[in-house]
Order: sequence, then C-alpha cells, then structure tokens
Amino acid sequence: MSLSHPPYRSSLHALPISGESFLLCRGRYTVLVDGGYERNKVGSVLREHFPDLNHIDIVVCTHADQDHAEGLPSLLQDRSFSFGQVWLPGRWVDVLPELIRDPKGFMSGLVQELDELSDQYSDRDYDEVEEEDFAEILSDRVRQERARAADVPTERPRPADDLPSDVPRDQIDRGDEVVDLGATEPLDEPSWFADLRKHMRERGSDEAAQKAFKSARRSIHYRRNRAKRPLGAAVAAYWLGLIETAKTIRGIAEAAIERDLRIRWFDFVAYSKTGAPAGGVPGFLVPINAVEQREPEQLDLSYLARLSPTNEASLAFFAPATRRTPGVLFCGDSPLGDGPEYRNSFLDSRPEPWGPIVATAPHHGSENNRIAYKHIFRWSEVDVLLRAGGTKLQPGRTFKRLRCSLKLCAKCPQRGMLPVLAGVEGTHGWPFRGPQFVRGLSCGCR
Ligand SMILES: [Zn+2]
Ligand SMILES: [Zn+2]
Repeated sequence: MSLSHPPYRSSLHALPISGESFLLCRGRYTVLVDGGYERNKVGSVLREHFPDLNHIDIVVCTHADQDHAEGLPSLLQDRSFSFGQVWLPGRWVDVLPELIRDPKGFMSGLVQELDELSDQYSDRDYDEVEEEDFAEILSDRVRQERARAADVPTERPRPADDLPSDVPRDQIDRGDEVVDLGATEPLDEPSWFADLRKHMRERGSDEAAQKAFKSARRSIHYRRNRAKRPLGAAVAAYWLGLIETAKTIRGIAEAAIERDLRIRWFDFVAYSKTGAPAGGVPGFLVPINAVEQREPEQLDLSYLARLSPTNEASLAFFAPATRRTPGVLFCGDSPLGDGPEYRNSFLDSRPEPWGPIVATAPHHGSENNRIAYKHIFRWSEVDVLLRAGGTKLQPGRTFKRLRCSLKLCAKCPQRGMLPVLAGVEGTHGWPFRGPQFVRGLSCGCR
C-alpha cells in the first residue's frame, strides 16, 4: 500500500458573506463560483477561513446580479491571491466593448431609454407596481427582444437520447491526477477583447467611467424627485440596479485585464439555439446551459436588454463526480429550465450523474423557480443542498419541504442570523457515501 499521496482535499463551502459565493476544492484545484454582495469582503473571508489558500484556479461568475458579482472586482484585484482563469457570461459581449470604450455614451443611452419607457407608460402609476412585478414585466420584454435579435428558435432543440458521458466511467479513477484546465494554452481571446486590453493599457485611469456612472445615477434621482410626474420607486430602483450592474461588469473585465487573466466566455444564447452545452473542462467543470465560445456573437440590443438580468440566463455548472468526490451542481439563480414556466429542463442535456450529488440551492431557495428542484431530483439523487444568500422571502415553501438528507444554510434569513461558513468536506471512497464533515447549520427557516 502506498501512502505517498497527500490526503485528497475535497470540499464545497458557501462563504459567510451576504449574497452567494461558493468555494470548491478538489485535489490540488480550487474553484470559486460567484463573489457575493460586498466589495472587499470575499478576499478577507477567504484569508480568515482558508489561510493556506493563495491561488484560485478558476473564478466563475454565473451572472451579473449584484449579490453574485459585486464582490468579484475587488477580489480579482486582491494581490494576496493569484488566479488562473475567469469564466464569464458570453452575453457580456453585448455590454463590454461599448462600456469600456465609451462609458458616457453607454450611460446616456441607458437613461434615454428610461425616458422613452416612461413616456410609453405615462398613464400608468409606477408606484402601484411592486419592484418584483416590474422586474418581471421588463424581463418578458427583454426575453422577447433577445430571442428576436439572436434568432433563437421558440423551442430549444431537444438533446440527443444517447448523451456522451462527461467522463467515461472507467476513467473516473482520477485520484490526484493533474487535470488539464487548459490554462497553459496561449491566450486565445476575441479580437474586440484584445482591443480592450490595448485600449485600457493606453488609457490608464477609469475616472471617465466613474463619472459616467455617477452622472447617470444623478439623472435617475433627479427624475425620481422632480415635481411634475416623478418616476416611480420601482422603476428608479430598477434603473439604478442596471447602472450598478454595468459598473460591476466593467470592474470584473478591468481587473481581469489588469492582471492578464485568461477569460473564457460561456454563452446562454448559443445554448438556446443548439440545446447542447459545450466547453469548460470535461470531467472537472462543465456548463449546464451554455456553450463556451471564443467569440460569442454580438447582438443588436437595447441597453435595457443588454443589462437586465433574467434568471434562466444565469449560468449553471456541474463538477462531475470523481472516485473520491460527489458531483457538485452549481445552480446560480437558474430555474434550470426554459420555456413556459421553465418546464424544459436544462439538465436533460447532461448525462445523469453516477451517484448522489451536492447541489447549491437554485436562486437562494426562492419559491418562484421551485420547478428547479423537480429538474434536479429527476436528474439525480441529491445528498446535500447548500443554500446561501437571499432575503427574508427565501427560502420558499418548496425548499423547506424538500426531503433531502442534508439541507445546509449559510444563513437562515428567516431566523435573522448572520452568515456562517457552511459546507461539506472529507476524503471519500467510491462510491461516495456522504460527507464526512459538515459545517454550518441545518436549515432552520420556517
Ligand atoms: Zn441571486
Ligand atoms: Zn435556512
């Protein structure tokens, strides 16, 4: 018997911050999925709880929502860590080129669209519309606009019946083997991104951008407070959110450019057209509802459609099981399906996992994408559901009623507690027999 291998590290943690951020450790590799809400927080939390960690192989951003993305720019700038690659939503291709080159033009375009929209709805009292309903109204509009612009078929093509396995079962015995993350390939990036690198190097400071964001915010506040026909609270909040989203997307790209990180793009639109996810690192981390593309197609969209979040476009990823570790499904805010009531499961395009998996609670356990649980449980057995972030509305009834051996919360919002480190870790033998160590709290939301 050989004892020459160091103990195999295997863990998944939800970090104790507001919003969502997960750290996956597998053997010698570390992956961070999302960066939570607060600026300058993830780095210090990682230093505190994982003092030996100084390199993250892959940083993933599932989507640009503040509670997932806002913490990432400062993390990527944090010099106490080095980073391998950054995986970003391919749709940022519709935002970044103009936002980096001409932040002022981008922001005035956004504010102008708000005025056009206000005129259109002038006889409606926006104050009557709740923030979430308003977001839903706009999401529908945005969905339609995107589908038209991208020429997405009304029905996503169904996946083939004989799906190729993520890793052939006889190769699952990877042990401590070195996985090729593809990070050593020469930088292969879209030409527009190479232009941005060049542009940013020449320009230096991003003062112009900060000024543009500030003035756009000011215009919204002005419209909110003016005497004649003031802007409704929900619309104002929505637009301010879009400005923050733009700022975060730009911040992430800037930090990645500054540190010469390899960026890989995962496009939801390309997936909607083919129904077949592709790319990532097979056997290690693969997309569920995206196609990795060197140069995602740029669409001609309104500023609203470029920046608006829609949950189904939130990226989901899967880390397939190895001999020693269970599969891990990162759900982001995704309902894990599209079409009417999100009934068409994205998971149908991935082969069933071999054993029970660990899944992050989709959309913080929110009730409005409860169908996600149906998709997950139809696809796989689930040993652990790990929940983070969200408001007092989350988790919803469905999450609370789910029967699953372990439901962990990094924060039970309905008990008003502060976030704690939550997760599972251990060294496992195949077949995976459940986590050996558990941190955090069994969900006590009621
Ligand atoms: Zn979220
Ligand atoms: Zn809870």
